[in-house]
Amino acid sequence: MKEYAIETKCVQSGYSPKNGEPRVLPIYQSTTYKYDTSEAMAKLFDLEPGYMYTRLANPTNDAVAAKITALEGGVAGVLTSSGQAANFFSLINILGAGDHFISSATIYGGTFNLFNVTMRKLGVEVTFVDPNADEETLNAAFRPNTKAVFGETIANPSLDVLDIEKFARVAHAHGVPLIVDNTFPTPINCRPFEFGADIVTHSTTKYMEGHASTIGGAVIDSGNFDWAQNDKFPGLTTPDESYHGAVYTRDFGKAGYVTKIVAQLLRDYGSTPSPQNSFYLNIGLESLALRVERHCENAQKVAEYLSKNEKISWVNYPGLPDNKYHTLAQKYMPNGTCGVISFGVKGGRAAAEKFMNSLELAAIVTHVADARTCVLHPASSTHRQLSDAELEECGVTPDLIRFSVGIENVNDIIADIEQALAKI
Ligand SMILES: *Cc1c(COP(=O)(O)O)cnc(C)c1O
Repeated sequence: MKEYAIETKCVQSGYSPKNGEPRVLPIYQSTTYKYDTSEAMAKLFDLEPGYMYTRLANPTNDAVAAKITALEGGVAGVLTSSGQAANFFSLINILGAGDHFISSATIYGGTFNLFNVTMRKLGVEVTFVDPNADEETLNAAFRPNTKAVFGETIANPSLDVLDIEKFARVAHAHGVPLIVDNTFPTPINCRPFEFGADIVTHSTTKYMEGHASTIGGAVIDSGNFDWAQNDKFPGLTTPDESYHGAVYTRDFGKAGYVTKIVAQLLRDYGSTPSPQNSFYLNIGLESLALRVERHCENAQKVAEYLSKNEKISWVNYPGLPDNKYHTLAQKYMPNGTCGVISFGVKGGRAAAEKFMNSLELAAIVTHVADARTCVLHPASSTHRQLSDAELEECGVTPDLIRFSVGIENVNDIIADIEQALAKI
């Protein structure tokens, strides 16, 4: 397809019907596929192109993966059943027991648990680093068995902005890839590959699907990282005995990393999205550019309102000029960051609870980053499993309220906040 602008890709990429075919991406609700000969089927088990079983690949899922790959400017991508699966696969595809990776400490609570507890049980070690650390400090975190560096473009919920170029420089200096979770800005506001990230992951559950109806994830490869530059990635550069000696980098070129996720991880772990869910995700993606623009416009106005309100103790939004990440945000996301704001209410936890319980339009939900304005107290919910020290490491203070600004009329959102603050 011709290189269209990103708004056009949101609507058009991934599926191009031929003469007489359905205009809208069909839901291929089929676990299985039919072949004329057993020989034709056998070829699929040698990883020739084609469909063998929906746990590995499905035409609906593939079309949506292709759209997200186009939005990020990558060469290959795959959908997973959740963002958690996407982040897990992005790492476990290139490391295993006895290996180590480095992660920014300010990341989503679920990802923090995955890295800090579950992956340690698998024998994978992680070192959490302060994303604002200088390069010398970051370099000191590397070990001979370090295989990757991980961060979130805009951290959920601390809203720290990752200095992607700095992280890419230190990762590449040690011959390992930088993996960036780009869930909050979406490719509409930031395309991490343009700044040196090698792999991008998504929880498509958030702005991409956009309507809080469907859990999903994606892993996209830039195609820029040379896996054969050293001997750190034998899973990609030496024969896979579970596929008759296939060598992913040799046999699949720039699609090697993603092909390995499909052939090994989707096959063995089975975290495959339902084609029906991918259909909903695709409908959400069609309006992504419009929605993200409105989310950011509304969030900017809400942040400005909050920062002038005497009942609010602090406001964190990278779009505010006095925010400590404003300069980095301007560099990586000149058109806006995301619709999520965090702030503290004067009067501590009791005031925060009163405020949240008094909201009428904004609902208390676990979710974030969808069309409806919603609110959450991370320390007592999504981050409840973390100790106080871990909370601080993640950038979550006990009084932090995460406010996800929707695409309603911003005057209604601000009026709701105003009436709730009046009740404190
Ligand atoms: C929600 C979220 C995840 C986890 O995604 P699920 O789709 O809920 O599994 C990962 N990373 C970030 C930044 C998120 O916001």
